[in-house]
Amino acid sequence: MVLKKFVESLSDEYKNSYTEGFNYSSDYELIIKLILSARALENKVETSGNLIVSLYKDYKSLSLASLDDIEEKIKPIGFFKQKALRLKKAAFYIFNSLNNKIPNTSYELIKIPGIGVKSARKYLSLKFHTQEVIIDTHFKRVLERLNFISSNSKNSEIENWYKSLISQNIHSSSSNLISYFGKKICLNQKPKCHLCQYKTFCNFFSSVHNR
Ligand code: SF4
Repeated sequence: MVLKKFVESLSDEYKNSYTEGFNYSSDYELIIKLILSARALENKVETSGNLIVSLYKDYKSLSLASLDDIEEKIKPIGFFKQKALRLKKAAFYIFNSLNNKIPNTSYELIKIPGIGVKSARKYLSLKFHTQEVIIDTHFKRVLERLNFISSNSKNSEIENWYKSLISQNIHSSSSNLISYFGKKICLNQKPKCHLCQYKTFCNFFSSVHNR
């Protein structure tokens, strides 16, 4: 299987169910949910993110909230202590150093606590419809299981390889789609292989079923 065909096949299969991942109505809400989203299920990001946005109306109020309170509010989400600290630090930085204005470059975005390269790219693609290869753990797991990349491939190598094979105008949507497939079907633990049409190309599937 070649990558382009895989992406086309996913697009066909999930065209009616695929979502970009976040509901948001402001920059503030988007930044909160991006920070919460690391290694977390979408429904928990939504619930915890919505609660934070409803309780703390802006960066200033979130930066002044007690860490204990923030932790308590986002407790259902994984790594809640780490994420509570990131939320508070990000809010402080955006309020004090950015005057509440979110920058529009990756270079500036990754200075915000809790926003790494992946989140910066996601922000830019959602906000400005830029074309970014968004490499996250789900994207890598799927491509590794299907033998497109190896476990020790560096993100920069994956990005260059991906760009050489996939049209630039679908970099964001296609990489998000692969990640979506990883979140919905090709789960880290207990992937739903019975629902997957790519079994014959899959290292993971053959290693489990040929034991
Ligand atoms: S067969 Fe299973 S492990 Fe392999 S790609 Fe499909 S869902 Fe993932």
